[in-house]
Parts: sequence; structure tokens; C-alpha cells
Amino acid sequence: MKIIVPIKQVPETSNVKMDPETGTMIRTGVEPIVNPLDLYAIEEAVRLKNQYGGEIVAVTMGPPSAHKALREAISMGCDEGILLSDKKFAGADTWSTSYVLSKAIEKIGNFDIILCGERATDGDTGQVGPGIAAWLNIPFSTYVSQISEVTETKVTVKRIVENGYQLLDVERPTLITVVKEINFPRLPTLDGKIKAKQAEIPVWGPEEITAESEHLGLKGSPTRVVKISTPKVSRDGERFSPKTDGEMEEVVDCIIRFFEEKEII
Ligand SMILES: Cc1cc2nc3c(=O)[nH]c(=O)nc-3n(C[C@H](O)[C@H](O)[C@H](O)COP(=O)(O)OP(=O)(O)OC[C@H]3O[C@@H](n4cnc5c(N)ncnc54)[C@H](O)[C@@H]3O)c2cc1C
Repeated sequence: MKIIVPIKQVPETSNVKMDPETGTMIRTGVEPIVNPLDLYAIEEAVRLKNQYGGEIVAVTMGPPSAHKALREAISMGCDEGILLSDKKFAGADTWSTSYVLSKAIEKIGNFDIILCGERATDGDTGQVGPGIAAWLNIPFSTYVSQISEVTETKVTVKRIVENGYQLLDVERPTLITVVKEINFPRLPTLDGKIKAKQAEIPVWGPEEITAESEHLGLKGSPTRVVKISTPKVSRDGERFSPKTDGEMEEVVDCIIRFFEEKEII
């Protein structure tokens, strides 16, 4: 069984700063890490490989330094890593990103399951997984919290839905996006770290994946981020600091009146 895990390098969330002028993310000087939600996809791939055999290929589209993310994936148990990196890919929206990833996956070929994270902690759209499936014309399942069985023809998954769970049999090959509930990602082993350090990471550009140039990068992206802003949290309410029991009762009455006026109670 061949499992492909697309992973994304993201800035460590706690360090993210926005440029107030341009509304874009300031990436310089921010430590990149593997998208935390992709670690669950890697872990699930390793578990499936241990149970059913096969190989795992991790793939990322990003700058040349993104090979580090692939090495981390290998140190956790992936067999190979492929970096999609080229100036022409830069500035891609989710449509273009999923196109490039799908072309790379087509080149890898003979895949059975593609495992993505639920969403990336920076872009946060959750569109890339389903986008890849659409380009490849294969079925996909999102918010998967369990992969209970893999047979020659189908994969049985449990999806989290609004009011409970949904059990689905999906034909192979298929794409699955996983949620945190699915497993507990392992830490890299020493052997894994040595393998990762020695691994050769091929770098593919548009030619290697025979990508149409009009679908690439900022130019090939049909969507644009027009503006990013932090919502203003309004704190226009009245502040009370009751010091005695009497004052406290007044404050409680006041709050009750407020809720009654708003028809909350
Ligand atoms: C309208 C719009 C315009 C944008 N314009 C720009 C822009 O001009 N410049 C810019 O730098 N960015 C831009 N972005 C952000 C960029 O499109 C996203 O960072 C990127 O396409 C991935 O989307 P995401 O972060 O929402 O991933 P999600 O869809 O949330 O990620 C889901 C999963 O897909 C996989 N995945 C996602 N990205 C990758 C990747 N690169 N490699 C491998 N696997 C991946 C991972 O498994 C991940 O867990 C834009 C985004 C949008 C929505």
C-alpha cells in the first residue's frame, strides 16, 4: 500500500505577527515548524503501514528550507520525502497549491491513500486536501477521527459531524483529512533521526511534475487576499467594582436589568 502525506511548514503560531501596513504575515525571523495537525496524518500513515505494510511518501510545497519538515516526517516513520520548490510556485492560493500537489502525486503514482491534516494553522482554510482530491478526481473524507479498516477496494472511516459520527466506506484510492482525535503522534526515534539526516530529498519544479504554467503561483491563483485585519473587541460596557455586600446587590440588580432589557432573560 502506498500512502502519501502532504505536509505544510507553518510559522510557530505563538510567534505569528502581522504587518499592519500590508496585512500579510511577517515570516522572517519566525521559526518554521511542521503544521501541528499534519503530525496526526503522519502518525496515522505510520500506523497503517505497520498494520498493512507498504510505504509512505511525505510531500511538501514550500521554500528550499522546507526540506526540514520532510526530514521530521521521515524521522517519525515516513520512507521518503519530496520537496516541491520553485519560484514559479510562490504566492499560490489554495487552488494552485492543491493543483501542484496533485500533479506531484500523479507523478509519484500508484497511491492508495492520501492523508492530510484537517487544516494548516496559518492559512487555516482546510481547502487543500479536498482540492487535491478534486484535481485527482478521487473520493475524499474530511474530519476523520478513525480509519477502522482498509481492504483491497475500500477504506472504512469514521467522520466527526455536527451531531455525532458518520461511518463511511470509501473506494480506494482516496484522500482523507484527519482530526486530532484520531491518534497521538509519536516522537521521532534516534534511528529515525539518523535516517532523516541521511535521506536524499528530491526537489521537483514545474517541469518535473509537468504542471501547466498558467496554474502556478500568484499569477495562476484565482483568489486574492485583499485585506487581513484583527477584529476589534469592543469593551464599551460599564465596569463595576463592588466593595460592600450592599453594592454587590446593586450590581447584581443592574446586571439582571441589563439582561432583561436585551431580552436575554
Ligand atoms: C484567497 C487566498 C489567497 C492567498 N494568497 C496568498 C498569497 O498571495 N501568498 C501566499 O503566500 N499565500 C497566500 N495564501 C495562502 C496559501 O494559499 C495557503 O497557505 C496555501 O494554499 C495552503 O492553504 P492553507 O494554509 O489554508 O492549508 P489548508 O487547506 O488549511 O491545509 C490542509 C492540509 O493540506 C495540506 N497542505 C496545505 N498546504 C500544503 C503545502 N504547501 N504543501 C503540502 N501540503 C499542504 C496539509 O496536509 C494541510 O494539513 C492565500 C490563501 C487564500 C485562501
